[in-house]
Amino acid sequence: MNMFTRRQVLRSLLFSAAAGAMRPVDILALHSKPGQLHKSGPAQKIVIVGAGIAGLIAAYELVQAGHDVTLLEASQRAGGRVHTVREPFSSGLYAEAGAARIPETHALSMQYIKHFGLDTAAFQPPNPSSTVHVRGKNYRSDDAGISQLFSFSDSEKTLGPVRALQQLNTALQKQIGSISDPAWPTPAALQLDELNAGELFRSAGVSDGLIRYLDLGFGVLEQLSGLDIAVQLESLLASKVRIRGGNDLLPKAVAATLGDRVLTGVAVEKIVQTSDSVAVCVAQAEQQHCIEADQVIVTVPLSVLSEIEFAPGLTAAKRNAVSNLQYASVTRVFAEVSERFWESKGISGFAVTDHPFEVFNSSFSENSESGLLIGYFHEQIARAIDEGLLSGNEELGLSLMAEVFPELNKFLTGSASYSWDANPWAKGAVALWHPGDFKAIYPQLAAAEGRVYFAGEHTSPWHSWIQGAIHSGIRAAMEVSDSMIDSEGTARKVAMPA
Ligand SMILES: Cc1cc2nc3c(=O)[nH]c(=O)nc-3n(C[C@H](O)[C@H](O)[C@H](O)COP(=O)(O)OP(=O)(O)OC[C@H]3O[C@@H](n4cnc5c(N)ncnc54)[C@H](O)[C@@H]3O)c2cc1C
Repeated sequence: MNMFTRRQVLRSLLFSAAAGAMRPVDILALHSKPGQLHKSGPAQKIVIVGAGIAGLIAAYELVQAGHDVTLLEASQRAGGRVHTVREPFSSGLYAEAGAARIPETHALSMQYIKHFGLDTAAFQPPNPSSTVHVRGKNYRSDDAGISQLFSFSDSEKTLGPVRALQQLNTALQKQIGSISDPAWPTPAALQLDELNAGELFRSAGVSDGLIRYLDLGFGVLEQLSGLDIAVQLESLLASKVRIRGGNDLLPKAVAATLGDRVLTGVAVEKIVQTSDSVAVCVAQAEQQHCIEADQVIVTVPLSVLSEIEFAPGLTAAKRNAVSNLQYASVTRVFAEVSERFWESKGISGFAVTDHPFEVFNSSFSENSESGLLIGYFHEQIARAIDEGLLSGNEELGLSLMAEVFPELNKFLTGSASYSWDANPWAKGAVALWHPGDFKAIYPQLAAAEGRVYFAGEHTSPWHSWIQGAIHSGIRAAMEVSDSMIDSEGTARKVAMPA
């Protein structure tokens, strides 16, 4: 890097507390290696709220840079929405309740997986065909009749749906620009936020059939911001991996390096700040106990942020963002079967349907003949299944999965389920970005308020992905680490804890 030192560039990009201005940080350009956060100024006491991936990565980077970090986590485990379920399945079987697929194009996710010595495997078996379940009938995804079924246009028929979407993606990437660019979203990108995904696709010449095909298993695509789907398309089309042994091995590995800095079962209730310091108050043994810090990073999803009291209160812009970004309902139903009946048919065990659910094959065990299928239910179906779960009844989810794979009824040996709406520290799965949200809400989400900084997947352009949580954690760690430096580059005086 000539003309400017790395440090000068970093400082020019980072939030300057003295100036009170926030500029986005190009994390991908500045953070080339995990564990090597740039630090200037004295060590600070930093409290991080939430030990999901965002909080863990922020903590890891700050600890490596020499800061004094405490991570407060309300639930009994670190990892948040990365949650691998191993009980009550047969030995070696496990399933993801949350993050399941890791696109290989997600450089930050792949870097941290490697950094913590974890191994990856293909997300789907190398089987050519999954199942497409439409109007009650099953089709193989490699069936030429799919084009007729969805009435693709002639060029889409020639290319096939995946290549047609890849071409669209290439065209859209030009308009959305680089999402790691500090200036993103640019005015050109924001034009796409004025449309819903259906309007955007139709204006690009995509047939209604291909839009329905892309929406299989999901059912809310037409409601989403065109900019959101334009950004997501690249990740959706990328080849995917999983962490061998379970995706929770990543948060577990990060938490292990942090040791007793991670406190679980500690729910933050209140954050009080003055110009000199900030205190984070938690409920412990029916009493409120406050921890003093120099800076705080809050990583909780917006769906539960309003349960934390801020004194002074959050700005109106932030409160508006919190109350207007809507979270999706997701419930997963896990079905263990005594035989992997799909293998003899030469299909993968994965399926998409014309209802808001899909089926994943999660039979990750070399030592067992038994298999594990996951029903991935969205929105109204997830909420209907949750009603049944209240009385311990998984029937609805299992019967919908059996409509796709009737053999499930014959081979089923056990089941379990997980509702993200019912998780009191998530109250939903991920945000649904509607038209206008990137313009009105996105810029407010990462903005610091005094000594309180904000991270979490929802603050990153890679929202709804592990990569977004990592990206946001690094960004917040960078902001905090440099926040003691004034615009002249000298350390600002702060009240350090006694
Ligand atoms: C169903 C589902 C499917 C997904 N699929 C994928 C996928 O295939 N690939 C992918 O890359 N990503 C996927 N994701 C997204 C990915 O899981 C998230 O982007 C990421 O895990 C979010 O991390 P986070 O740290 O931002 O938030 P979280 O993981 O939610 O972490 C926040 C933490 O804060 C804690 N907390 C909340 N309130 C308080 C409080 N008051 N005090 C203290 N602690 C508190 C919570 O318990 C939680 O541990 C999926 C998510 C879900 C739910």
